[in-house]
Amino acid sequence: MAKKKAAKKKVAKKKVAKKKVAKKKVAKKKVAKKKVAKGQDTSKNLYDAVLELIRVTSTVIPDDVQKVVLETLEREEKNTTAEYAMNIIKANIELAKKKSQPICQDTGTILFYISHPIGIDQGKFTKVIEKAVVKATKLGYLRQNSVHSLTGKNDSLNIGLGHPSVHFHQHKKKSIEIKLMLKGGGCENVGAQYALPNTDLKAGRDLDGVRKVILDAIVKAQGKGCGPGVLGVTIGGDRGSGYLASKEELLRTLDDKSNIPELAELEEEIVTTANKLGIGPMGFGGKTTLLGCKIGHQNRLPASFFVSVSYMCWAFRRQGVILKENQQISKWLY
Ligand code: SF4
Repeated sequence: MAKKKAAKKKVAKKKVAKKKVAKKKVAKKKVAKKKVAKGQDTSKNLYDAVLELIRVTSTVIPDDVQKVVLETLEREEKNTTAEYAMNIIKANIELAKKKSQPICQDTGTILFYISHPIGIDQGKFTKVIEKAVVKATKLGYLRQNSVHSLTGKNDSLNIGLGHPSVHFHQHKKKSIEIKLMLKGGGCENVGAQYALPNTDLKAGRDLDGVRKVILDAIVKAQGKGCGPGVLGVTIGGDRGSGYLASKEELLRTLDDKSNIPELAELEEEIVTTANKLGIGPMGFGGKTTLLGCKIGHQNRLPASFFVSVSYMCWAFRRQGVILKENQQISKWLY
């Protein structure tokens, strides 16, 4: 009898244990389902955030740029072609914002700069960005602007080798920050790179040499590149890294000063000198040739001394967002 009872107890215990295991399995499945659902929502949120970032970048000039455009318009002499050109630029900026239409028909090279904490899947992130770029192109926020370099074919999607250009950078913060710059072709064409010393310009390997080649780039760009422009400059690096870093200088706001006193002074001097050259908006003459100049530096080889200049036109389109944990937009950066 006692044996039978013990056996029964064992069976009952086993049943309880089985039930517990089954319950655990159900709970695990629920958690897994929740995770999947959360993942799907997050990538939809990211897609929505990137699409909105593209729309705003393409149609609204950042506040710091608009402020300088309005200030320079005030300084132009009345009833001159320069004043007329600046007024058209002002009207264009206002109309684009009001109608939510691109500020310029050339919506440019699409440059994303993403700062993220450890653990992000860059491949998946890029896929979401590309999807948003395709949608933004269909909606007209972006022109069908990406062409195969060998065949000349335009697949109308803005997707291809190297386009959009997505740069990832890991940082120590918990949040993800996405910056976007749309850089027009005309202004990209007048970017320049110098190897110092440059005997023609009597430019040596020092800050005075740097000043001379930057001014040379401005003079050569006159009438092209849709001025007034903003320069992003990098001293040093190699030919590739110098150009990359010079574009990143354009992510700084126009009121930002270099924390290196010599560079801060040079940035200011370049703008002042350029605006005395009489080149003016669109090269029509006038007081507004440059809206800003941002200069940074990178280490270089003893054998090389490059100065890389990226030129941004008046249609200076850059924006940025910080994302919440669920990848919705929490803050606009410019
Ligand atoms: S350079 Fe700038 S303003 Fe000129 S067409 Fe290109 S994007 Fe437009």
